Amino acid sequence: MSDLAPLKELLVEPKHIVITTHHKPDGDAMGSSLGLFNYLIQKGHHVRVITPTDYPFFLQWLPNNPEVIIYTEKPEESKELVANADIIFCLDFNALSRINELGEFVREAKGKKVMIDHHLEPEGFDDFRHWTINACATAQLIYDFIVTVMGEKHLINKDVATCLYTGIMTDSGSFRFPTTTSEVHHIVADLIDHGAENSKIHQLVYDNFAENRLRFLGHVLLNKLEVFPEYNAAIIVIHKEELEKFEITTGDTEGIVNYALSINGIRLAALIIERKDKVKLSLRSTGEFPANEICKKYFNGGGHRNAAGGASDDPIDVVREKFNAILPEYKALLIQ
Ligand code: 5GP
Ligand code: MN
Repeated sequence: MSDLAPLKELLVEPKHIVITTHHKPDGDAMGSSLGLFNYLIQKGHHVRVITPTDYPFFLQWLPNNPEVIIYTEKPEESKELVANADIIFCLDFNALSRINELGEFVREAKGKKVMIDHHLEPEGFDDFRHWTINACATAQLIYDFIVTVMGEKHLINKDVATCLYTGIMTDSGSFRFPTTTSEVHHIVADLIDHGAENSKIHQLVYDNFAENRLRFLGHVLLNKLEVFPEYNAAIIVIHKEELEKFEITTGDTEGIVNYALSINGIRLAALIIERKDKVKLSLRSTGEFPANEICKKYFNGGGHRNAAGGASDDPIDVVREKFNAILPEYKALLIQ
């Protein structure tokens, strides 16, 4: 971890600050970004959150969500804010390609770049970093930044606590992935003590889907799930026409891959989706199986050992064949 004392010094006086996070932000990306936003505004800073793309409906209730600017909707305003920022916080990603076009503007910007993240292999565009792969969520690192680095636990108000709870809850799979240490439980307990309404947050995130999403899930599980018992693997392949038929929007496909992984004995699950411009893969694995290695080696992506993703410009059926052809290479690891 780099020395953050000069950053702490910079934050003494009000600054123009941009917070940004990765393409198609998830609960941790938005929870971290708005958690940091709600902390920094209490210190008198001028803060804007800019996301590279839109994000799911079930995250749009987070405190101060209306303050978020979506780059694709307001590119000129976003570029200007990035160019004029004194400090740019980059949360939940560590390679500028993860924020699409916005990446080049961030790279060229004069402001100090602060990367707070828990993914492997940072690219190194940052001036300051608060980074470790041992955190279950970037929101956990934001908590640590406020409490340990800044020494300002008293600024964790209800809004900050709500956002950080959401980030930790979603990235830890509701406190069940192996990264959920006792320290994580201590932190979420503290967030509840500071006003996070845990039960309400679960409801807002997990019970906030439109009817069509549930019917889509039914269709997918019944018709699209393929299991390969000889490899302890399962895949779900979703075509563009199905997304259109069920009027699927951003966030509706999140979590679907976990159903494939929930089958007894399955060690590797893949969700392959035909998006507008490319085919996107989401992989999940159990134990030591390196899902991120497959994404990095074959699909231009990466991620964590047990949750990784990638993309391909090939047609979806080619991607599926490619994935199936990879399974024999990993058979020994999969059938352990
Ligand atoms: P998801 O499957 O939920 O889209 O992504 C799971 C994890 O995989 C993310 O937290 C992120 O670390 C990683 N990931 C997803 N897509 C990509 C990608 O295109 N490139 C890289 N490097 N990582 C990705
Ligand atoms: Mn994360």
